[in-house]
Amino acid sequence: MRLLFVELYVVSMSDESSKLQIELLEQQIIALEMENHQLSQMVSASKLEIHKLREIQKLAKVGTWSLNHLSYKLTLSEELQFLLLGGETKTNTLSWDAFLELIISENDNNIAQSITEDVVLGGQKKVFEHSIETPDGQTRYIKHFCETFYNSIGQPLNSVGLMQDITDEKCNAMQLELLSVTDDLTGLFNRRKMNEVLVSQHDIVQRYQSDCSAILLDLDSFKQFNDLFGHQTGDIVLTTVANMMISHMRSADICGRWGGEEFLIVCQNTACEHAAIAAEKLRTVLAAIELSCAKQVTASFGVAQIIKGEELTAFLQRLDKALYQSKNSGRNKVTVCN
Ligand code: GH3
Ligand code: MG
Ligand code: MG
Repeated sequence: MRLLFVELYVVSMSDESSKLQIELLEQQIIALEMENHQLSQMVSASKLEIHKLREIQKLAKVGTWSLNHLSYKLTLSEELQFLLLGGETKTNTLSWDAFLELIISENDNNIAQSITEDVVLGGQKKVFEHSIETPDGQTRYIKHFCETFYNSIGQPLNSVGLMQDITDEKCNAMQLELLSVTDDLTGLFNRRKMNEVLVSQHDIVQRYQSDCSAILLDLDSFKQFNDLFGHQTGDIVLTTVANMMISHMRSADICGRWGGEEFLIVCQNTACEHAAIAAEKLRTVLAAIELSCAKQVTASFGVAQIIKGEELTAFLQRLDKALYQSKNSGRNKVTVCN
């Protein structure tokens, strides 16, 4: 806002030059008033822009930070302040070190260190994904864009970051990912996922000194459950068997539904003889299940260990053969393929 001090001289109205001077000053006042009006309009417009920017940040769940390289003072936008410090706090002060401590890295990446070394000191533009814990103890997933700005002679002025809360998108993606690998009926992994597991375990065996075995089981005369008690009872039997498998196998063992009434268990870091013991235990527990339809459920088992240098298809053939040996020799049996 500009102030105008007008000095008026007491003059007699007959003095022509004084009259002109007053007119000139009046015109200047009008011009300044117009300029003042324009400036107020610009201030209002920029306030509106700031407001719109804040609102859109809220909608996009985006917040920004800026680190001044001279003072090392960190400034947080309102939305980021809310995300990091919670709704209650009135201060937006957070030291740079305290800010970095909020960043939770996954795997072995030290993202806080990379922001300091690569972005703030190294001047690189980077995008990270990490999580933070909010003051009320929630985990939020963040996509984090960072960059450093320099003056015309190459001195760093500010490092700036934009943090986007992608928790909802991340949870939806994780949910979809889970659905794509889960068998609807039993909740076990589906065949697609079990194939992936087999491929990766086969790889591990080829590369390292590691044992991996698998148990394939097929329920005996399962068709009778459907025929005698209906499809729904058949489904209940399948779910009961799946739950029993989960509760009796080790957490490192990966259980899946391989087909209709066939199940596959991949036992990581397990030699054939130990997998055979687990299969025998499972066979006994299965045969002892008391179903509401009062019919005994049993299964035939095949057990085999992946051999170094063997193709995965050849391994699966051996496993299948072991299972059908159990079927052909009277069912409710475990056959180990050595
Ligand atoms: P075997 O001892 O030779 O394995 O005999 P089986 O009756 O178990 O084998 P078969 O292959 O003749 O029949 C398998 C049955 O499993 C037939 C099919 O309808 C049933 N089945 C497959 N998937 C499901 C399912 O999701 N729910 C139900 N209820 N039944 C299923
Ligand atoms: Mg079958
Ligand atoms: Mg069967």
